[in-house]
Amino acid sequence: MRRKLVAGNWKMNGSLSALSELDAIGAAAMAAPGVDVAVAVPFTLIHPAAARAPGLAIGAEDVHEADAGAHTGCVSAAMVREAGAVFTIAGHSERRADQGENSHDAWAKAAAAHRHGLSVILCCGETEAERNAGRAERVVQAQIEKSVPENATADWFTLAYEPRWAIGTGRTPTLDEIAAIHAIARAKLGMMIGDAAAAVRILYGGSVVGDNAGAILATENVDGALVGGASLTAAKFVPIIQAAA
Ligand code: 13P
Repeated sequence: MRRKLVAGNWKMNGSLSALSELDAIGAAAMAAPGVDVAVAVPFTLIHPAAARAPGLAIGAEDVHEADAGAHTGCVSAAMVREAGAVFTIAGHSERRADQGENSHDAWAKAAAAHRHGLSVILCCGETEAERNAGRAERVVQAQIEKSVPENATADWFTLAYEPRWAIGTGRTPTLDEIAAIHAIARAKLGMMIGDAAAAVRILYGGSVVGDNAGAILATENVDGALVGGASLTAAKFVPIIQAAA
């Protein structure tokens, strides 16, 4: 009942010329009608990406929590929507680490995005120290409690579990560890939003590549992948889309 979602996150990568990668990614999405495919790109690429790839869901990597105002250098949900974005990421661990964002900020950004008609991929995930201390499950539960909007429903809201230590490292949790966190995340969502939790997609992110995507995507309660490095080229991203099909 939950369609798989394969979402790319280009982070601070890409250029106008790199948008040519979207042609083959879009073709792979067309060839996998049972899979939703999305790509979050830097603000400057949203408009040209949306124009070039009308068959793909193009999104932002972040938005400001306010609708408008005196926030130099920031970009609102309404602005990215006007540029052609249909979703945004919120609460990515790199923004938590680099910009000092916390779960409340992620909540506010998700709420702002929803106000302006964007879907949201909201990220959670523990650090390596937290996992080694046996605290991964509690950290993720607390992040979900503080960051998931109370009106979250599957038609606009997706959760992504991205253990920080697995991002860009080539290391992933075991499939059992992924299944354990995803089960706990769904149970926590159930406590917060009730029956609606059953339909909410929970993505796994962190060093997903073509070789491990099939096993990860077949894991219980894993409804897709949030992919960084391997989303930058069609050669690496298309096999992940195919693994989800
Ligand atoms: P990598 O796939 O490069 O590990 O990045 C994951 C991620 O942070 C996606 O948001």
